[in-house]
Amino acid sequence: MIYSDGYAEGEPRVEFRTDVDDGGGQGAGTGTGRLFPLEELYFCDACSLVCSRYGLTEEIDSYYCPHCLENMPSSEAMLYLNRCSKCFECPICFNTLTITAAHDGKCFFSCQFCRWSSGEIQLEAEKPDMLVAAAFQKERDSPHRTEMNKLVETFRKASQEITRERELQARMRRRSITLFLPATSGEGSKRGSKSGGGAHPWVVEDLENMLKDKKTKLKTMSIRTTTKKGVRIESISLKDLIAPSDEKARSIAEQLKSLDETPTDTIASLDQRTRCINEEAHTLSGLIPSRKPLLTKRSRRCRQCTRYVVKPQINPCSTPPFQKQNIAWLYVPRVLLVHPNPNEIGVGRVMSVSFAMYNPVESNTTARFAADAYNRNISEGEEEEDRDNNSSSSNPFGYTMDVLTEPFETVIGPHNELQDVHEGLIEEDSAAVPTDDNPEIITERKGNKIMVCLRVKPHDDSAGKEATFGIPVELSFKDRTMKEHNTHIHLVFTLGIISGASE
Ligand SMILES: [Zn+2]
Ligand SMILES: [Zn+2]
Ligand SMILES: [Zn+2]
Repeated sequence: MIYSDGYAEGEPRVEFRTDVDDGGGQGAGTGTGRLFPLEELYFCDACSLVCSRYGLTEEIDSYYCPHCLENMPSSEAMLYLNRCSKCFECPICFNTLTITAAHDGKCFFSCQFCRWSSGEIQLEAEKPDMLVAAAFQKERDSPHRTEMNKLVETFRKASQEITRERELQARMRRRSITLFLPATSGEGSKRGSKSGGGAHPWVVEDLENMLKDKKTKLKTMSIRTTTKKGVRIESISLKDLIAPSDEKARSIAEQLKSLDETPTDTIASLDQRTRCINEEAHTLSGLIPSRKPLLTKRSRRCRQCTRYVVKPQINPCSTPPFQKQNIAWLYVPRVLLVHPNPNEIGVGRVMSVSFAMYNPVESNTTARFAADAYNRNISEGEEEEDRDNNSSSSNPFGYTMDVLTEPFETVIGPHNELQDVHEGLIEEDSAAVPTDDNPEIITERKGNKIMVCLRVKPHDDSAGKEATFGIPVELSFKDRTMKEHNTHIHLVFTLGIISGASE
């Protein structure tokens, strides 16, 4: 079984469970969060939060053409229907067309890949800019576009009408409330008697009638009620196709058979037709070049504090391409699992799991591992009933293994770029990194790397399931600007499939 995120069942891996209430998406509200590899996570340096793309909001900064790299603001992009004003795509293979001059001095579009030329559809001009203008005109003259513009105009008018009525109703509601106020407050009653004059007192029925009116009006204006219902698509069974049983089936079969006589090499594919939707061409000769669709540059903000987490440069040519790019990879220690021997994973068998951690920041990172946080068995001496009651609350993520290692804390040394290039060149700051590690847990350390060894044991009833366990880790570190961060990550380890054999 292949999971949607590309992992096979039981494939050894380390993932990060993002905050359970990170908002939006499918996982929200289910209380289990979502699993991501570190590469897909972000870090908000304003509120020290590790979050996934679901914890961020996205906004479009600018539009640009992927071919000529011209960028434009959204108003201009809208004017050009989100397509480049200069670049055209080949209607056959969708590569960018170049303008070529023929011997007789005429310019035409040609594709360098499939050799298509706009001469085939009589799209030629004296000069390159005239050619572009002619292609534009061809697009503008399309009857479908004219019809669509009419439709858009009609709906725009209807929408304006709805807005106007809503405003009127809001104004009426405000007036009826001011009429209602005098009855409730002494001060208002004076004002009411002045302005209200002979108007009849406000009653609840008025409001109810008004809301009812509004509902019916909105219903009659809705687009949905005006569309035709009951559009049926003709279908035919294979049996009817071969030997039509009634008149209707015979006519459909006839139509389908007539397709046999059409040469297939001149028919436009579905992709080619949708790219050239203005023409609704069925054959290749009816296709015209379309302008290159624009791409967008987007920035991402943290949902919690609304500060930027990712902010690209407006110009697609500028280097570096980002003004700000806080990916978790540059802040959170990277975890590399030493793949365990699959034969070792068995019910009732205690096994050790080793993984390396790399600190990417240029300061010490303190990591506090709450190793036993999600163990199913709270303590040895507990009653069987209590254990059953505790099992769901202490293990909300359905892990199938208990961590026998006690909670521990350690410091990972700072990252130094030169360290990787010249081993031993940089003298390690031995005072900064404590060396009183428990050698059974932190088995090795060097520079910004540590090797951690945990002892884990599968649950008794977990044979055949994925071997998983999770550890919440509190991290403290300083970023490049020496700002201190205290953040929380939740590591999820998958080791393999638990075998039923016990020793
Ligand atoms: Zn362009
Ligand atoms: Zn082409
Ligand atoms: Zn934030």
